[in-house]
Amino acid sequence: MRDQPTAPTTALSGHRLSRRRLVQAAGLTAVAASAGTALGSPARADSPGTNRDVIVVGAGYAGVTAARELRARGFRPVILEARSRIGGRTWTTTFEGKQVELGAQWIGPTQPLVNAEVRRYGLSTLTGSIPSRLLMPSLSGPAAVDLESGDARYGALMERLFAGARDLFPDPLNPLANRAAVVAADGLTLRDRLDQLGLTAEERLWLSGTTAGYSGGDSRIGAYTALAHWWALAGYNVAGYDAAMSLRISTGMTGLLQSMLNDAQAELHLRTAVASVTDTGGEVRVTTTAGVTYRAPWAVIAVPVNVWKTIAFRPGLAAVRAQASAQGVGVPHSNKIWMKVTGLPDRVAARGTEGDPFTTLLSQGDVNGGQLMVAFNSLPPVDGTSVSAVQRALRYYLPEASVTSVLAQNWGTDRYSLGGWALRRLGQLSTQQPAIQTPQGRLAFASGDIATGWIGFVEGAIESGLRAAGQVAAMGTPALAAV
Ligand SMILES: Cc1cc2nc3c(=O)[nH]c(=O)nc-3n(C[C@H](O)[C@H](O)[C@H](O)COP(=O)(O)OP(=O)(O)OC[C@H]3O[C@@H](n4cnc5c(N)ncnc54)[C@H](O)[C@@H]3O)c2cc1C
Repeated sequence: MRDQPTAPTTALSGHRLSRRRLVQAAGLTAVAASAGTALGSPARADSPGTNRDVIVVGAGYAGVTAARELRARGFRPVILEARSRIGGRTWTTTFEGKQVELGAQWIGPTQPLVNAEVRRYGLSTLTGSIPSRLLMPSLSGPAAVDLESGDARYGALMERLFAGARDLFPDPLNPLANRAAVVAADGLTLRDRLDQLGLTAEERLWLSGTTAGYSGGDSRIGAYTALAHWWALAGYNVAGYDAAMSLRISTGMTGLLQSMLNDAQAELHLRTAVASVTDTGGEVRVTTTAGVTYRAPWAVIAVPVNVWKTIAFRPGLAAVRAQASAQGVGVPHSNKIWMKVTGLPDRVAARGTEGDPFTTLLSQGDVNGGQLMVAFNSLPPVDGTSVSAVQRALRYYLPEASVTSVLAQNWGTDRYSLGGWALRRLGQLSTQQPAIQTPQGRLAFASGDIATGWIGFVEGAIESGLRAAGQVAAMGTPALAAV
């Protein structure tokens, strides 16, 4: 069944909570039948160390997209993936019998590439249902507010936050179209931007959960231009911004990726962490932590930018890449926590403020004897593996509720991501784009962290994988690659 995305829904960690969006945020109306079979199993188990046309390091959306596109151009890719699964910062799994996402969860109608993939593989998208209670921060802690008026008030604040974004990004897919304006704004943190707005104390509480949540815990981390760019990509308005994370893919994020991987017909090696990448000038030698060396004329490096610094590149990474990896692009604190909650009669959406245990907390549907909730935690850290720690955090918002089980993924401490979604830091857009995307010798780089458009999203990872495949194809043909 094919399904065109239509309705706005929910957020990563803090968007305007429109009623339609809350509908979808609070609980899925359908659950995927299948997330694919044998996820991550190798298509072919050749002996390591032999020659291939192209080596792809990393089996997230960027790497798998690059592999599939290269295969379509006649290349024979081998994918080396450190984890025991594909997907990277997407991870569809099961909790309390329901399909859940531990990483990326939502897509939206203004993201044409991922929607094209959903259609290509005949998948559908899912929406959620309306919560009955909205909690917003107040001077005395989380407080229930009327859904409609609270939503409208929050939306108006978001419009103030992003006033001027159209001048900054007149052509969102060309983010440096107004370079002078971007350069002038690129030193502004999200907190600086809040300071400019003349907010009341309560308005500040309402907005700073969003800016801190997206920044990974502290509104001083992310560049204002980063969030304003998302706003522009989404159509310069709240409805579009909400819609950008409004839909779930029926088979889950991993299910779609598995479909793409099947098309790549790639040789996939899981549990194969890369330690070094050497470009001899004549070929690329990729050596794993187990000491196995793969050789090919070209390689696509599709690991997160934050991880680049953990791989020994010879010759070393170009300065722009070394700088970005040292600064970080994936946000430092990104802990996504699923919990089964009892004692809660209604469906809740709660938004925290900076410094709260959760920046976003959403009901996600009923399970046997309770309901599922998902929370985004950054700073202060909450131990998502501890029922009692999560319950303590939850009771800050919902004193009546109890947590009976948890499932969490802390992306900031995960060695193969070293961060969550990408949010550009100060000056990164104006000084590192587009140089960070250019090939280096025989290496092309792919990552949602270096996208031109939807950086920090699956959409951006696909964009970047497409670009990297094109770069490799421009360097040589598969026939020339036969070594
Ligand atoms: C909590 C969270 C929520 C998010 N929510 C959304 C959302 O709702 N919508 C959305 O569109 N996006 C969302 N994102 C962002 C989205 O997940 C990423 O932008 C996207 O998945 C990045 O894809 P990628 O292929 O560039 O990187 P990754 O998915 O990180 O893939 C990189 C791969 O490289 C592998 N790797 C790392 N080091 C090595 C090594 N040394 N050797 C071999 N392999 C290695 C990793 O294991 C990984 O599989 C979210 C992210 C997080 C963390």
